[in-house]
Amino acid sequence: MIKFHSFLSSVFLDICVKCGVCRDSCHVYLETGDLGKSPVYRLRVMQNIVKGKSITEDFEFLNIYECTLCGRCMEVCPFGISTIDFWEYLRGYVYSLGRNPENLNLITNSLQEFKNPYSMMAESRFDWIDYLGLENPPVSKKANIIYFVGCTPAFKGVCQEIAYASSLLLNKLNLNWSFLGNDEWCCGAPWIMAGSEEKAVEHAKHNVKLIEDLNANEVVTTCPSCYRMLKWKYPSLLGRKLGFKVLHITELIVEHINNLKPQSLINSTVTYHDPCELGRLGGIIRKPRLILKKFSKSFIELPTHGLSSECCGGGGLLQAVDNEVRVKVSQKRVKQALNIGAKILVTSCPSCKMTLRDGVSALESDLEVLDLTEFLIKTLNL
Ligand code: SF4
Ligand code: SF4
Repeated sequence: MIKFHSFLSSVFLDICVKCGVCRDSCHVYLETGDLGKSPVYRLRVMQNIVKGKSITEDFEFLNIYECTLCGRCMEVCPFGISTIDFWEYLRGYVYSLGRNPENLNLITNSLQEFKNPYSMMAESRFDWIDYLGLENPPVSKKANIIYFVGCTPAFKGVCQEIAYASSLLLNKLNLNWSFLGNDEWCCGAPWIMAGSEEKAVEHAKHNVKLIEDLNANEVVTTCPSCYRMLKWKYPSLLGRKLGFKVLHITELIVEHINNLKPQSLINSTVTYHDPCELGRLGGIIRKPRLILKKFSKSFIELPTHGLSSECCGGGGLLQAVDNEVRVKVSQKRVKQALNIGAKILVTSCPSCKMTLRDGVSALESDLEVLDLTEFLIKTLNL
């Protein structure tokens, strides 16, 4: 059975006229040319399930995960159908049948055992502090602001610089802040992407208790998935308001932008890739641009940006089911940046950074990919 969270969702499902507009903006379909991997096909599958027809073929189960959950299909739908909710319902359905792709089990088993998707011991969550030499790190302190680092910046080498840069920025702004420490668990977004809300609830309960015990007023994240989970999904999973406000670091930086004076403006042409979860799905589009325009001499937009931005290819756990498509999509985005003459491609998401870097490597390009926090500490000489 498909579990709808709202009556509106079931109405939306009936409204879909299969016009195919969403298909033509879906990068997975455009890259593969496979109708079975298109949103409109998936909607048909969903309508069939609701009518009582089961799916049985392995490829049909797999195709449900051939999606980065980027929300571009939702943005273009002339009827305003919230397709992204359907993709979550479908994953929940597949997970409940135990038919989710095998590679995804590596992630869910790791979440179950280690509370992060990378099979890393909890004790190593903050090893990056030593590698990168962050001095006097505030850990598990009662503080106004908690920096919720997230698993990708904590464990993935190429993204640890983001956690480091963010810590330097919080220090530079003289804010009263702290990390949660080794007890921080994954925000739970990969559980939702895999199809289990029940498991995500455990993560929400655990993290919220840690944060509320420290009496924090605000939580800041650098990962847009963590941001959306803490800000919107946790209150809905827990059925209550949280005792703190959730900000993405770009919001915090803009709040304090007058206290940041660039030591040197970046001369190279800079462009910005909107992470789907921060821009289209998170509503933060203007703020990163405000920062980049203040700290660079030449800022230029990618051909698609803001609400209609194309995905980097890295969301929705696509890497686990079809890394080839992920890297192809990423190369397309990197080529767009190269074609407009950009030398630095900035984004505000650890997962986008990793994916775009993979695209750059596949193209053997010298385009520099930076998170906005890394870009900022360069201009501030931190
Ligand atoms: S664009 Fe909207 S109406 Fe058209 S097929 Fe996609 S979901 Fe259905
Ligand atoms: S969310 Fe993105 S990847 Fe998934 S079907 Fe829609 S456009 Fe395609």
